Amino acid sequence: IHYICVMAIKHLTETIINQIAAGEVIERPASVVKELVENAIDAGATRIDIVTAGGGKNLIRIIDNGSGIPADELSLAVSRHCTSKLTDNVHDIRALGFRGEALPSIGSISRLSLKSRVADADSGFEIAVNGGRMDGPRPTGMNGGTIAEVRDLFFSTPARLKFMKTDRAEASAISDVVKRVAIAFPHIRFSMTGSDRTPFEMAATGVGSEGMLERISQVLGKEFPENAIGIDAMRDGVRLSGFAGIPAFNRANSLHQFAYVNGRPVRDKQIWGAIRGAYADVMSRDRHPVVVLFLNLDPELVDVNVHPAKADVRFRDPGLVRGLIVGAIREALGQSGIRAATTGAE
Ligand code: ADP
Ligand code: MG
Repeated sequence: IHYICVMAIKHLTETIINQIAAGEVIERPASVVKELVENAIDAGATRIDIVTAGGGKNLIRIIDNGSGIPADELSLAVSRHCTSKLTDNVHDIRALGFRGEALPSIGSISRLSLKSRVADADSGFEIAVNGGRMDGPRPTGMNGGTIAEVRDLFFSTPARLKFMKTDRAEASAISDVVKRVAIAFPHIRFSMTGSDRTPFEMAATGVGSEGMLERISQVLGKEFPENAIGIDAMRDGVRLSGFAGIPAFNRANSLHQFAYVNGRPVRDKQIWGAIRGAYADVMSRDRHPVVVLFLNLDPELVDVNVHPAKADVRFRDPGLVRGLIVGAIREALGQSGIRAATTGAE
């Protein structure tokens, strides 16, 4: 059968385009939190407060003390493909965001309010986007920085809403996202409050490796550094640092594996595979080690631009990275005298 298209070709509406983009980037409330927290970090914030209710489905509010958005740029901030983080080279991306897609996507599937005040302005300004319809900007009272508020996520895409898990599960995914990003930015104070959880705060730590270790303790508990071995290895321009938990300090899932490529949190199958390989001889297959890895390499040797959610990476030389991770973890475990005898089974 040949289908004949009898409809005239038309350009999709802006709202539909944004909703399609949202389908890729915004999977669940935790994705919104990730995007908004990344924006706050890119704005140079040193304090980020996260408030959620209803597992983030009812309310997500992110308050930062970053640079703010000038009043005359607020409507651009919520427009598609508008970014202040433009570079001419997609391989040389310093900021966490760069697509100019998150805010318009979020605004097309929720009730978004963006309030912001730059340092030299007399007042703040607010713009609202309701299921794709823009309203404002108008003046509003606030301190310097930005408050992004998302209510009724997925109200305009009910099919998506049906896929949401319980409030508890969504709240826990939000918490995982915040902790994952917090490890990479120990100089930022993070707080999580709201009806979803008991308040949780991570104070800003000092700089350098000590600060890093302190933040890791805030996220993973004080027991982790006591049960982990430091890693520091370098091969062909790729630097690997971090901590490998001893096999006995294992977990039931891989949520306790943290990897960062050039400071960017990633969830990458190749890296997870390398970690699994490194522990293969000392841990049963149903258990998972606790690991924090920082990979630093020439931005030309890695593509972080693979997916809009930016969690995957593509290395120019995957074998090198795998070899480095497996080698460094095995060496660390070997040095600490941990052998196959400690299978870590509980
Ligand atoms: P991207 O982060 O890819 O640039 P977004 O849609 O997330 O795209 O944000 C669009 C723009 O809005 C950003 O480039 C930035 O200029 C501005 N912006 C968003 N959030 C903040 C914030 N919390 N503080 C300052 N500027 C922000
Ligand atoms: Mg962004």
